[in-house]
Amino acid sequence: MQQPFEVRELDLGNVEEARQALRVQLASHQLEVQWLNYPGLPLLWPDLAAVRSCRERIWAAFEGGALRGLVVVSRRPDGGIHIDRTVVDPEHLAQGWGYRLLNRAVQGETSCSVDTAEVNRAALALYHKAGFVQTQRWLTPDGLALWRLEYRPAEPPALELRADGWVKGALQLPSPNCDERSPGCVPELLVIHNISLPPYRYGGAGVEQLFTNRLDPAEHPYYQGIHQLRVSAHFFIRRDGQLLQFVPTGKRAWHAGVSSWRGREKCNDFSIGVEMEGCDFEPFSEAQYRMLAALSAALRKRLPLIAVTGHEHIAPGRKTDPGPFFDWARAQADCQLAN
Ligand SMILES: [Zn+2]
Repeated sequence: MQQPFEVRELDLGNVEEARQALRVQLASHQLEVQWLNYPGLPLLWPDLAAVRSCRERIWAAFEGGALRGLVVVSRRPDGGIHIDRTVVDPEHLAQGWGYRLLNRAVQGETSCSVDTAEVNRAALALYHKAGFVQTQRWLTPDGLALWRLEYRPAEPPALELRADGWVKGALQLPSPNCDERSPGCVPELLVIHNISLPPYRYGGAGVEQLFTNRLDPAEHPYYQGIHQLRVSAHFFIRRDGQLLQFVPTGKRAWHAGVSSWRGREKCNDFSIGVEMEGCDFEPFSEAQYRMLAALSAALRKRLPLIAVTGHEHIAPGRKTDPGPFFDWARAQADCQLAN
């Protein structure tokens, strides 16, 4: 499958990439000066030479070969990182590029900060979405109110699996797409998936609509091919860590399809399906891993779970999720389950 987008470090040795970076930064700066009504906003790079001599780390998001945005990150003396600038091509705003870049930049970092103008509501909303919270406010000498935000991914709430198979602490959205497990089958296996609807877009209602047979084919061209599917998963973990439940754990959800685990077929019979909001092409969020760990702990108290695996492993050749960015070592340790 062709990769729909890519987030990686900008190659400063590549003149074409540096040119794209300069162009996107200049266009974005112009727009930001208008938004903030603040002509004094400094440019990150005035010219190509400045881009090419930039010594900070630059994360870049590409769609096809085209640069959609970048995040410039510097290493603080205390070992944390500071986001110096988040830039999105004004022609491609509100398409998730800012989130995508920040999600990549904070991977593996324990402490991250960013400063932004209070009037820049779009930036504040973006940083909140990426897991940042406001910690300080001050005024510049010329009267611009600035906020400092720090990366504090959400901690999961207390979860409890009740006797009726619903998790207290999850948002319940009952799906008709389930039935009884085959006789003698109990949940032994956690199956991890990824999903996003429309593809590669996060935060919308598409997934819950699909799992409850309410997806509107008129809403997106992609939905025309899938709105008649009758599928579900027990759980869905959003990028911000929110947990949704569609099927009680005692019932069989329809997530695995034709599948086989350790020689046993029809994995739906003996598994719990967990969908992570995401795709095969970028890392999952810290808040999602924390929620997965909390969910697993709650499930293990009542269910005989012994292993965690991926849809790609029980349906190889047919499925690729959760994909190469899913951190199996972490998930196994967090969930206290084997592979
Ligand atoms: Zn799947």
